[in-house]
Amino acid sequence: MRAAVLRGPKDVVIEERPQPRPGPAEVLVRVHSVGVCGSDTHYYDHGRIGRFVAEDPLVLGHEASGQIVEVGPGVPATRAGERVSVEPGLPDMTCEHCLVGRYNLCPNMRFFATPPIDGAFAEYVVVHEAFAHPVPDAIGDDAAALLEPLSVAVWACRKAGVSAASRVLVTGAGPIGLACVQTALAFGATEVTVSDVNPRRLALAEELGATAIVHARKTRVTAQDRAPTVLLECSGYPPAIVDGIRALERAGRAVLVGMGGDEILLPLAVVQERELEITGTFRYANTWPTAIALVASGRVNLDRLVTGHYRLDQAEEALTAGHRDENAVKVILRPQT
Ligand SMILES: [Zn+2]
Repeated sequence: MRAAVLRGPKDVVIEERPQPRPGPAEVLVRVHSVGVCGSDTHYYDHGRIGRFVAEDPLVLGHEASGQIVEVGPGVPATRAGERVSVEPGLPDMTCEHCLVGRYNLCPNMRFFATPPIDGAFAEYVVVHEAFAHPVPDAIGDDAAALLEPLSVAVWACRKAGVSAASRVLVTGAGPIGLACVQTALAFGATEVTVSDVNPRRLALAEELGATAIVHARKTRVTAQDRAPTVLLECSGYPPAIVDGIRALERAGRAVLVGMGGDEILLPLAVVQERELEITGTFRYANTWPTAIALVASGRVNLDRLVTGHYRLDQAEEALTAGHRDENAVKVILRPQT
């Protein structure tokens, strides 16, 4: 099979590799769509993300969908042929965090496209049967792949306790922010304000249901009529994080989703006097059933986020699309093409 392999910063080649075989409890998936994530682009640009360093050649891509073409020992033969969305991490299922259900915090997680585990910029991948989620025909290949970033949004909304009549501020209107807008609305939020510096992305946020938008270069998020009860921080931009926290209503909750700021100055008096809760999020756990239902029912539109398609041999172009076009939102790699 062919795979797009990152050999070092800004160096991707197409390699012929042996097609993997599914072991016990595994399925072989023919990959149809893979979303390109900011983390893939970061590995491409720098060869590392924080403590994760790609010392050996690495296949990128962790937002994948496809079709089961072979099942391993112990997997029902009837699963062959299923269209599936791939949940790209395999926890050990035995540690204390896995046993209480928060397997996203498993210290032994093996996650796609995180060194040394290869990802899905390839014609085929092997996945544990429990992490190949069947999708209905109402969900296309691209949307099935983007159930992964949607899962990030679902997890963030759960951590934030978004529910009926929540007033939500989403800072950053990239793919995760736009997924958060739609998910917050589906969870019952009645006001969802989005801030960004890109007018095109803000217009898209409005189209997807945001009730208000803030041009971050012109207006501060702290200058709203009614303070939000929830902050879903999706920019990773330190001034936006701090301003978002300052904007919160008393007893509000801030969920830090965006990555980028290693350390920031926290306005402690604000946090203390308003009894704000601040939490991080790391990936997700048990989110696929919710994500599938949200998309299948039309509550969340993932296809609207897609701004380009690329063949496998264009992996490098796909990884750099965001550098060339500031209006690119989510680009999709099609490994079978
Ligand atoms: Zn574990």
